[in-house]
Amino acid sequence: MSIQITIDGMEINTEEGRTLVEVAAENGVYIPTLCYLRNQSCLGTCRVCAVRVNGNISAGCTVRVGKDMVVEVNSAEVADMRKAIVEMLFAEGNHNCPSCEKSGRCQLQAVGYEVGMTVARFPYRFEKRPPEFAAGKIWLERDRCIFCQRCVNLMRDAASGKKIFSISNRGHRARIEIDVGLADAMPPEQVKQAVDLCPVGAILEKRIGYDEPIGQRKYEVHSLRERTLNTEGASS
Ligand code: SF4
Repeated sequence: MSIQITIDGMEINTEEGRTLVEVAAENGVYIPTLCYLRNQSCLGTCRVCAVRVNGNISAGCTVRVGKDMVVEVNSAEVADMRKAIVEMLFAEGNHNCPSCEKSGRCQLQAVGYEVGMTVARFPYRFEKRPPEFAAGKIWLERDRCIFCQRCVNLMRDAASGKKIFSISNRGHRARIEIDVGLADAMPPEQVKQAVDLCPVGAILEKRIGYDEPIGQRKYEVHSLRERTLNTEGASS
C-alpha cells in the first residue's frame, strides 16, 4: 500500500512495510549501518542506525515504515547519539586503524568518518582478547570484533549447514569463536566472503594482509555515504 512518511521534514511517498534505512537511502538521507545487510534478516545488534520514530528512539534497520510515520535522522541530538554509539564501539575494542589490515575497507572506520568522530568521549577499555590462529585459512583478531553477528548468522558449512562462527560468553567476557574443522573446509570464495562480511578487521585471510594499495581501497575510492546512497544501496 502506498503511504507517505516524513524524514527530517521531507515528505516521502513509499510502500508500507519497507525498511526505513532503505527508504531513507533511496531518498538521499544517509543513516549509518554496521550489522544491517540488504536482503538479509535484520540483526539489530549494532544500533548505529538509531533514529527517532514518532518520538521514540529506534534502530532504523528494524523499523518498517508505516502511514504518516515521522522520522528524525539528522537533528543535533539524534546525530550525536549515533556518534556516541560509534565512539563506544571504538572504545570497547582495540581499533588501531593505521596498522589494521582492513583499513580503508573497514565499515566501522568508514562510519567513524561519516559521523565526524575524532576521538571517543569514553575511556578506552583496551580489551585483551587473544587472537585465534588455529584455522588454516582464516585468523581472528578478536579484540576488533563488535559482535554484530553477521558472520554467526550468515557463514555456514555448505554440507552440514552448521554455523562456522559463534560468540562465547556474555558481557565483557564475550568473544568471537571459530569452528576450526568447518573453517578448514571453507572454499576460497567463502573465505573471502567471510572477510568481506565482517564490518571490521576481526576476520582475516591468512597470507593476504595488505593486498590493496592505500588510496585504492573500497571506502577510499567511494565513501560509505556515497556507496549507501548511490552505489550499493543501504547495505554497503
Ligand atoms: S567477527 Fe566480524 S562479522 Fe563476526 S561478529 Fe565480530 S565483527 Fe561481526
